[in-house]
Amino acid sequence: MRVRPEALRRNYRRIVEAVGPGPGVLPMVKADAYGLGMADAVECLAPLGPWGFGVATVSEGVALRALGFEGRILVCSLPPLGEMEVGVDAELDLSISNVRALDAARSAAAATGRVPRLHVDVDTGMGRSGFDWRRVDEWLPELTDAAEAVEWVGAYTHLHSADADETGTAEATIAVQWDRLEGLRSRLADALGSPLLHVLNSAGVFRRPALGNAMVRPGIYLYGGGIGAGQPEPEPVISLHARVVHVRDAVEGTTVGYGSTYASRGDERWATLSIGYGDGLPRALGNRGHALVRGVRVPIIGRISMDVTVVDITGVPEVEEGDEATLIGSQGAEAISLDEVAGLADTISYEILTGLTPRLPRVWSDEKEGPSS
Ligand SMILES: *Cc1c(COP(=O)(O)O)cnc(C)c1O
Repeated sequence: MRVRPEALRRNYRRIVEAVGPGPGVLPMVKADAYGLGMADAVECLAPLGPWGFGVATVSEGVALRALGFEGRILVCSLPPLGEMEVGVDAELDLSISNVRALDAARSAAAATGRVPRLHVDVDTGMGRSGFDWRRVDEWLPELTDAAEAVEWVGAYTHLHSADADETGTAEATIAVQWDRLEGLRSRLADALGSPLLHVLNSAGVFRRPALGNAMVRPGIYLYGGGIGAGQPEPEPVISLHARVVHVRDAVEGTTVGYGSTYASRGDERWATLSIGYGDGLPRALGNRGHALVRGVRVPIIGRISMDVTVVDITGVPEVEEGDEATLIGSQGAEAISLDEVAGLADTISYEILTGLTPRLPRVWSDEKEGPSS
């Protein structure tokens, strides 16, 4: 797998152009920067001056601290209560979704002698975490009470349908969720000392860019995943490669792979590639997906195995062992996009990226040709 740091930086700059220089940017680097590698992603983006970096768990935040990153790290999900103290001790910004979590943060303050930096997670419709926006009268006083022991840094909500393809749905739902948070803004400001608001994920950034100058929290767009029909395309950041390790002729009726789900329909030529579902290539691409070899798109035949995948190269007989095959990315004029692969596998780009396994080396390089696996 190859990762292009310049493309990642260009996608970041496009987000800054869309929202303007005012709002801070919190690139999400959870799940090992969506599978690309958190350490490299942070090294790549930190010089561009983000407000901080977003992770999903305390252990991810602790790992980022251990790399020597001294800036803000926001854990953008509610940590289990037992992890609050570790998070406070590592000087992570933490999300608070309920009063028990707030109590745990106060205990952590007492135990560590540090002032927890907290962000209020306001539930405006996602429903999986956060304080219900309708019940602000119940929870806001509790937050105010805690203000001596903690620092209220931010207040945020998370969009549920910002990448909806149906015309107008994304804009409409973003507006509803924004209005719910905006409706609390002055009360939050009075009670908690004007916390920093943040709302927009990647898909929201280009649809409602100017929401109240609030900070934005992009993830997938940075890493080259599309954000819905009619939206600006990110530049591809990753490409996925394998080597041709075996070439053979297959007379009519020759079968391939587990379950022998494909048999040659005449005299065919096949190539075996050194990549399988054990590397994160979705098994769903068996008899559906494609690879590029020598600049030509060829079909995957049979089931994908854990370690290898077979393609039909009858149309490109010059392919030989040692050639590079591209499963995601481009060769010459041909390209297989991350979103095409996700669509064929009946999933989303996020799951493809985070499903790439540690067995694949991540090679960060802007060179056109580089090492591959
Ligand atoms: C993952 C995540 C994001 C980023 O979402 P993308 O769709 O990848 O841009 C933003 N905010 C929160 C709370 C998240 O969990």
